[in-house]
Amino acid sequence: MRAPIVLPALFTILACARAVPAPGDATPPGGAAPGAANREGAAAVDRLAEAMRERIAREAPGEVAVALVDLETGRRIGIGDDVSMHAASTMKVPVLVELFRQAAEGRYSLDDSVVVRNEFTSIADGSRYSLSPEDDSETGLYGMIGSKTTVRELARRMIVRSSNLATNILIERVSAESVRRTMAKLGAEDMRVLRGVEDTPAFRRGMNNTTTAGAFARVLEAIARCETGVAAGTPAASLGLSRTQCRELSDILAGQEFTEMIPAGVPAGVRVANKTGWITGIQHDGAIIYPPGRAPYVLVVLTRGIEDRAAAAKVASNLSRMAWEALVGAPARVAGLPSTDELLDLHRRHRVGAITEREFTHETYWSTVGPVIDGASTLSREEVGRSVEGRPLYLVRYGTGPTRVLLWSQMHGDESTATMALADLFRFLAESPDHPLARRIAERLTVLFVPMLNPDGAERFQRRNAYGIDINRDARALVTPEARTLKAIRDRYHPEFGFNLHDQNVRTRVATSDRTAAIALLAPPFDEARSDNAVRTRAKQVAAVIRQAVEPLVAGHIAKYDDSFNPRAFGDLMQQWGTSTVLIESGGWKDDPEKQYLRAANFVAILTALDAIATGAYASADPSAYEGLPYNGRPVNDLLIRGATIALPGLAPYRADIAVDFAEPLERTGGRIVDVGDLAEAAARDTLDLTGLFLHPTGPADRLVGAPASFTIRRGADPASEEVGMIDAGIVRRRTAAAPDR
Ligand SMILES: [Zn+2]
Repeated sequence: MRAPIVLPALFTILACARAVPAPGDATPPGGAAPGAANREGAAAVDRLAEAMRERIAREAPGEVAVALVDLETGRRIGIGDDVSMHAASTMKVPVLVELFRQAAEGRYSLDDSVVVRNEFTSIADGSRYSLSPEDDSETGLYGMIGSKTTVRELARRMIVRSSNLATNILIERVSAESVRRTMAKLGAEDMRVLRGVEDTPAFRRGMNNTTTAGAFARVLEAIARCETGVAAGTPAASLGLSRTQCRELSDILAGQEFTEMIPAGVPAGVRVANKTGWITGIQHDGAIIYPPGRAPYVLVVLTRGIEDRAAAAKVASNLSRMAWEALVGAPARVAGLPSTDELLDLHRRHRVGAITEREFTHETYWSTVGPVIDGASTLSREEVGRSVEGRPLYLVRYGTGPTRVLLWSQMHGDESTATMALADLFRFLAESPDHPLARRIAERLTVLFVPMLNPDGAERFQRRNAYGIDINRDARALVTPEARTLKAIRDRYHPEFGFNLHDQNVRTRVATSDRTAAIALLAPPFDEARSDNAVRTRAKQVAAVIRQAVEPLVAGHIAKYDDSFNPRAFGDLMQQWGTSTVLIESGGWKDDPEKQYLRAANFVAILTALDAIATGAYASADPSAYEGLPYNGRPVNDLLIRGATIALPGLAPYRADIAVDFAEPLERTGGRIVDVGDLAEAAARDTLDLTGLFLHPTGPADRLVGAPASFTIRRGADPASEEVGMIDAGIVRRRTAAAPDR
């Protein structure tokens, strides 16, 4: 439902956490006898429950309910897990279970054809109603109204893109009453499915689907026990499904496209089968997590009264990461680092408000930041060189300590995220010289900053300098004055530590996941063999510190940059010259076109790293916390248009997928066609499913690839057939995939 829900301002935790052993038995179903190990496991779960409860109290601006079931040990955690909330789209999981159950009974086959229709009966007053694509997170099915698809395909769309239309068609097939009966058999009667989606008369009468965290967890537990055979005796027996059928069911959940809550707290590459549910003021997620080499665990996080979606997602991903680390293990954490929350707060207070967009000139930057530095007794600024076009390159100094640290940013002119963060850092150091962090750094380090090493590139907002040379490929030849300036600073100070601050392709994903690589780290190699020595190991430890610092901000979105040796690049050669160097790349973050969120993350990363070097805390970091990061994956296209039939004038219509990239991926402008054909294996930041519809190019039709991605979407191949929408340079008009109820 999309209707606004008025919520009382509840900022309370629902109930005290309790960790309970497996039902009715001190012996976990994993088989371990009661004993020391078992008691230890119980204590670990107690500690996790306590830590979760504290975390919720500290950072959740609303109600949070949690249910966790570890199939490995049978242990459970419940935090407010019996409080009933609006189920939102989590109710699609019970529908999926019932759909599979009835198919297993032989009532129908999942491969049966169904006519897609959009007319439903309200359970409140028997009136007829329809759904509208504007209120659905899956729009492709609307183009198929009147034609046929399979039960299986409807089930998939109901789950992976939370299609409301598919849900309503399927719930009429299986009946809400049958869903409730099956839930009762699973001991999950508190997951109450009364009706389909967008039944406004029912909503007005308060006839809503509801769930508790505990009941949702029991449904997922039944699926997980059934498919893995772990203690499958009790609840899963009620499912009446084979292991293969349960695996097929969980495969649909594992194809989930909404992964910003629980999956974001799980390392990339680990299988997660989840279903979210979002309506105004409600954001839920429930997941089965399959760590390699052990039985899965189930985690459900329900939230109510957190208006900011990103905040709710963060609560869920943090709880998910805590569960992973407690149950599966994680690299040892470095002690003695400043808290990320505290640093974020510092950033809020010292952010340079005059810079709000990522494109700015040398003149703008230094007229804003220069006076901050020049007016501070603890900071100094020196002109150390000039760019090709004569713009001054400044070296900013802070601190008088024995350890020298060199940071340079924006050697690629259009990569400004860290330059913004450095402005904020200067303001913090200038305005709060007595802050313990600022003092520690001043006493123990000499920090050397070169912000915006490529001002001529920044002027044009392009990667290369005015010679057309990539300064980061000029560390060996030193043809550019900018590269020579950086090398001269390195030779003058012989810094022990270095930070090479960049932005990377916003289309880059973490490994093969569908998550953007918001931050990528690299301790560059100093030789072809990618050997380790003391210099590089120190860099890896600093990278591990940075990972820990930014994990609460970009959990699941941190990658390792390609570590093949490049003999022309500054990071690699700095490492070779004896400076422990870390590359920080800022990539893409959802709804952050000006990179202001990643600017804050850079501030946190840089300040934490400087402090860890000042205190020596970095030396206790485990390099494997860096080494274990997944690599940057392949950049994906900005948009994939799937399933449409292309109608070019004078040619017979043909079926083909279309890949689109924007000239400006952050602003989403200038979308052009980059590929046409069978793109079933391709991934994209956004997917538009136009199965059953026809694309009529609006531009010259003599070539498609390279042309603007502009089409009229029609119901037929005939240019006079009904128009249902259009795509204008990659932007979809009138059929936007807004997602109010998933
Ligand atoms: Zn770069």
